[in-house]
Amino acid sequence: MRLGIDIGGTKTDAVALDATGRVVERVRMATGFGPDAVVEVACAVADRLAAALGDAVHPFDAVGVGVPGLVEPGTGRVQHAVNLGVSDLPLADLLSVRLGVAVTVENDVNAAALGAYHLLGEERSMGFLNLGTGLAAGIVVGGRLWRGARGAAGELGHLPVDPRGARCACGQVGCIETLASGSAVARMWPTSAELPAVDLFDRAERGEREAVEVRDRLADGVAAAVRALMLTADVDTVAIGGGLSNLGERLHREVAAALQRSAAHSAFLASLELPTRVRLVPPGTAIAAVGAALATDTEETVH
Ligand SMILES: [Zn+2]
Repeated sequence: MRLGIDIGGTKTDAVALDATGRVVERVRMATGFGPDAVVEVACAVADRLAAALGDAVHPFDAVGVGVPGLVEPGTGRVQHAVNLGVSDLPLADLLSVRLGVAVTVENDVNAAALGAYHLLGEERSMGFLNLGTGLAAGIVVGGRLWRGARGAAGELGHLPVDPRGARCACGQVGCIETLASGSAVARMWPTSAELPAVDLFDRAERGEREAVEVRDRLADGVAAAVRALMLTADVDTVAIGGGLSNLGERLHREVAAALQRSAAHSAFLASLELPTRVRLVPPGTAIAAVGAALATDTEETVH
């Protein structure tokens, strides 16, 4: 039995996977803020999962954890996890002492990429686009993460695509993230609505001109990220996940339309059939927690 824990900015999501990779139990708790609380909540979800499985002791042979921060290759040390209030924490070491088993720590987008690959039944290559507050991608080939020489593979959010666009938090101008992310929606579509992206799509579908323009800009941004992944790695499919993917089919349809528009005058781009190669991660799926558990298999790839 493997345990996967996704420590997000607000929720810690944990799953128990059996030997075939099937989710047999799932538990969610509010994430603690600061290093001690992060460790405590991770231990608490492990206890709850063990209890839900009817075990007094932990039945886990391996534990994988996904975190939104920089993870030092090989050591599982976490740095700059701003949303967790963690600046530098030897998370793998601390958890492994507490849980009495080897612990692997992985960046959350990479973990989600592995989870999406597994849950969508992909068998060859997949790019995973995480449309969260920011935009980042993970690349999985043959079930293994492709990290690149310095771990920057898939940092597509900071690929500039519009020299006249908005200034990005990274210092460049017109990065894809300034068009296709939760923070981009917040900037381009200021609203008091609880779910700005849903409000944007609702209004665009009612034909409000300004909403249509902003929605199309967002879809063009996501399409730019899909093209970048396809034209550099030529992955079989690109899966879209993250908070904005909760828009479901409405987002999928607009991204496919944007890809279609971009290929309208290019027989080359059209021949790649990009709209048919984009998939959506079903909303509510525990991809990052599942991927964190699966990452315990691929630890050697971090070196
Ligand atoms: Zn940037």
